Amino acid sequence: MSREMIQPGSTIGIIGGGQLGKMMALAAKEAGFRIIVLDPTPNCPCAQVADDQVIAAYDDEAALRQLGARCDVITYEFENIDYETLKKTAESAHVPQGAELIRVTQNRIYEKDAVTKAGVRVAPYKVVQNEADLKAAVAEIGYPCILKTARGGYDGKGQVTLRDEKSLTETRPLLVHGACVLEKMIDFAKELSVIITRNEAGETSLFPVVENIHHDHILHKTIAPARVDGAVQEEVQQIALQVAESLNLVGTLAVEMFLEADGTIYVNELAPRPHNSGHYSIEACSISQFGQHIRAICNWPLRKVELLKPAVMVNLLGQHLEKAVGQIPYQPEWSVHIYGKKEAKYQRKMGHITVLTDEIEETLLSLEKSGVWQD
Ligand code: ADP
Ligand code: MG
Repeated sequence: MSREMIQPGSTIGIIGGGQLGKMMALAAKEAGFRIIVLDPTPNCPCAQVADDQVIAAYDDEAALRQLGARCDVITYEFENIDYETLKKTAESAHVPQGAELIRVTQNRIYEKDAVTKAGVRVAPYKVVQNEADLKAAVAEIGYPCILKTARGGYDGKGQVTLRDEKSLTETRPLLVHGACVLEKMIDFAKELSVIITRNEAGETSLFPVVENIHHDHILHKTIAPARVDGAVQEEVQQIALQVAESLNLVGTLAVEMFLEADGTIYVNELAPRPHNSGHYSIEACSISQFGQHIRAICNWPLRKVELLKPAVMVNLLGQHLEKAVGQIPYQPEWSVHIYGKKEAKYQRKMGHITVLTDEIEETLLSLEKSGVWQD
């Protein structure tokens, strides 16, 4: 079988040099690729393992052109890059994921439209441009609800939870930012997510359905596989397939969902890239989300994904880092990932821990007992 594929020894360009770029680069280096990362911060996490760095802003057209000229294929580690610049880059460089996926997923309004068009449910929502819209939307959706900026939010940034009329004053900074969406607060039983990968040849692979626990709107913990029955897992994977096909996915898509007690599933968010809730796959699966992503953008056949062992992944934020490092001597079963960010700021993702286990509940207790995550 002959196919156009990017050969080992070729150069992969990654736009964005945080932890996701770093873990993509590590997976790519394993297969003999060279890496050039584009990021404004010198010695960013990805640059620490890349062959070279272009130090420039994500929307610097000349820098992206340079990256395109020096690389055989271009990918990105996050969705908040400039759509127009990426589109232009794709005219002269090889960007198998295209720019359209970025256009849709960097704006919650387009994203919800796309998910709905794929025939999948999202939480009831209204587009809100100003205070008058907000009042009308709240009257329709009711409290509690969440206002989110359409663009630029991550880790709960750009969101305000509204529980009563008093909280309306907190929405001003969001509304001046531009268009927003007001969403009904879903009283979910669990948050679930799944990662789907597709290559240019149209082959698709799905990772196991996992369960996510957030603290302060930031992912805290992922449990793989999710503690839900097989029918729910199947429905979640079917939803991801439907969305990926409808978006003509190439590369990786993470689909975040809410599961209600009665079994109703809503799509919360899409991420067109490897995702924090997929980090467990580095140790727990036959291929990691990063390895599979690299295979997809290089148009290699995708590996069959198997969960080799259940796992728990816990994030290390700035306030956890020191305590986690102090635990290393006592926790030989912890796979310790430290991203190499310069400043351990409060609530900033600095690393994560993965534990493989056949006893999820016991492992959850022992992680808690370690004291690392007690604020
Ligand atoms: P981000 O881009 O910051 O990840 P999300 O929309 O995924 O934004 O929100 C972060 C977290 O906030 C979610 O994982 C969930 O825990 C909570 N959340 C967001 N929207 C809702 C909602 N409509 N109902 C209930 N919880 C929500
Ligand atoms: Mg999210």
